[in-house]
Amino acid sequence: MNVDKLMIDLEKKHPGEVEYLQAVKEVLESIEEVYNQNPQFEAAGIIERLVEPDKIITFKVPWVDDQGKAHVNLGYRVQFNNAIGPYKGGIRFHPSVNLSSLKFLGFEQIFKNSLTTLPMGGAKGGSDFNPKGKSQQEIMRFCHSFMLQLWKNLGPDTDVPAGDIGVGGREVGYMFGMHKKLTGEHTGVFTGKGRNWGGSLIRPEATGFGAVYFAQEMLKAQGETLEGKIATVSGFGNVSWGAIRKLNQLGAKVMTISGPDGYIYDPDGISGEKIDYLLELRASNQDIAKPYSYEFSNAQFHEGKRPWEVKCDLAFPCAIQNELDENDAKNLVKNGCKVVSEGANMPCVPEAIDIFLENKVLYGPGKAANAGGVATSGLEQTQNAMKLSWPAEEVEEKLRQIMINIHDACAKYGKESDGYINYMKGANIAGFIKVANAMLDQGVI
Ligand code: NDP
Repeated sequence: MNVDKLMIDLEKKHPGEVEYLQAVKEVLESIEEVYNQNPQFEAAGIIERLVEPDKIITFKVPWVDDQGKAHVNLGYRVQFNNAIGPYKGGIRFHPSVNLSSLKFLGFEQIFKNSLTTLPMGGAKGGSDFNPKGKSQQEIMRFCHSFMLQLWKNLGPDTDVPAGDIGVGGREVGYMFGMHKKLTGEHTGVFTGKGRNWGGSLIRPEATGFGAVYFAQEMLKAQGETLEGKIATVSGFGNVSWGAIRKLNQLGAKVMTISGPDGYIYDPDGISGEKIDYLLELRASNQDIAKPYSYEFSNAQFHEGKRPWEVKCDLAFPCAIQNELDENDAKNLVKNGCKVVSEGANMPCVPEAIDIFLENKVLYGPGKAANAGGVATSGLEQTQNAMKLSWPAEEVEEKLRQIMINIHDACAKYGKESDGYINYMKGANIAGFIKVANAMLDQGVI
């Protein structure tokens, strides 16, 4: 494999798809050595077939607002690879959604799902619809219209979507409802469902919990624990909420949360009733940062800034892609940060990752560190297929064990001669080998 040549060819075919090309390059650079040691991969054109999605579905989503005015958004589903199981990956509603961002997320999802050890292929979908400021009825009409276009491409053994940014339990409910009406079947076609109609306990908090378990394992491999460590967290969405709760439970102190407008630094730590207060603000669709700083007087709001300037042992970027740049990485290193565990997908830019690796920071890439969410979705699919519901403790223990296994798989392929573990390399190789071997077994299709 010649990475430079492959990337030039890919850039010609898909000009301007920045996020997608960035994600492919990162994976190819990590697996180059292993790939070239296995000539059967080259002969079967594994890379050329793996970097292109199996199928891309694009469609328009017309909907009517509360004033009776019609709108049209774009909808997508990128079914990337189903070598090891049915397509699986979330649906994102956000104005930034475009084909490039969904192809990047779908590509990453292949390796993430492979790492979980569960039988799930990679996919991603979404729309440039902005749910912010929309009424409940508008959201429902939009979700129904989205599903009217997509339903024929989904099924519990074909493609099983889930939530992502802008898509939580409410939106999954509306989309599932329309799918059920059109098919006449109540199947496990979505994960992240309501708890009383097929959803798994622990799914909402699983991604954040998993990112913390992954950090715990990275520390354990160096003979350390989370107890007493200072953590910075970005965002305050589904993932951040889970991460903050688990960090508190395991004895760390969380100093920050953030939003697109800035971050909150709370020297007393963010825990207990403060988390409940943040959830109330979020549920009522309000900005969180400013009200939080008024309610808890020691807290400071840093407008237009990101939390990576705060001194910490552990950093958890949990908001959005490319939210931690080169300067942020330099600040973290300067301030003695030992661990970066990505709750979000690709939150660190490539230059920031280079800085972490050069400085031997324990860096857990999203495809490993945030795989707890999709792993628990996989557990939800199993429960649906068995028509059973496992207790929360059982699901969480399975999640914890999966995160330990993912850590160990990354360590196996990422350990360097001086003992440092390059988790990014390890995750890419471990995720890739399983999928590549499945593709070899199944022939050129
Ligand atoms: P949510 O929509 O629940 O939360 C996102 C949070 O990030 C919100 O608090 C949002 O603030 C904040 N935010 C958005 N843009 C910025 C910005 N530019 N700077 C700082 N904060 C910002 O999404 P999730 O928590 O579900 O997902 C977060 C990330 O984790 C995404 O990258 C997603 O792909 C990834 N992920 C999610 C999984 C899941 O199970 N949910 C699974 C695996 C990965 P506001 O609400 O004010 O816009």
